[in-house]
Amino acid sequence: MKRICVYCGSNPGKSAEFLASARTLAGELVQRDIGLVYGGASVGLMGEIADTVLAGGGEVIGVIPQALVDKEVSHAGLTELKIVNSMHERKEIMADLSDGFIALPGGLGTIEEIFEVLTWAQLGFHHKPCALLNVKGYYNQLTQFLNHAAAEGFIADTHREMLLVGEHPHSLLEVMATYKAPAVDKWIGREET
Ligand code: AMP
Repeated sequence: MKRICVYCGSNPGKSAEFLASARTLAGELVQRDIGLVYGGASVGLMGEIADTVLAGGGEVIGVIPQALVDKEVSHAGLTELKIVNSMHERKEIMADLSDGFIALPGGLGTIEEIFEVLTWAQLGFHHKPCALLNVKGYYNQLTQFLNHAAAEGFIADTHREMLLVGEHPHSLLEVMATYKAPAVDKWIGREET
């Protein structure tokens, strides 16, 4: 994996463990020479992971819509900051640049972003690993809900298993590196939707 996209909170969260996990993941990326792709903000967990990768000498590409440059305080010291016109463009570029996706703890934006790439994986638009870094059990209720949705027949087991979940950046990255996407029934291109 050359670059990984990390979705995470534009807030730091209430527990210091969340900030610490952003730093640990950043350190693992630098050690493996994996570049970071993220939303380009300087605030919250987003700013923390970018700052730590940069401090370690790693590559950080931020992608942010013009309308959010001030609101999310775009990061001034990145390897590259791409300013785009819309949220859709942001997400598409982030996905295209990356070889895998990790969600750290975060809010609605984070949840929306990881689920979007997961639904793209389900449709076969890409074969890249999608993962939750389940710091401090933050995503426990979400994974329980997905199990419930699978048990009730709304998510196929193969699709449920596409979402990798790990508590530690090191082991999660190991699992992602060997991930093989399952075959899906019908492969379609994004342009066909
Ligand atoms: P949050 O997890 O809500 O703190 O947001 C994390 C990042 O997700 C921020 O950069 C938000 O701009 C971004 N975000 C919020 N809503 C959306 C959305 N609908 N689509 C894509 N990104 C979003």
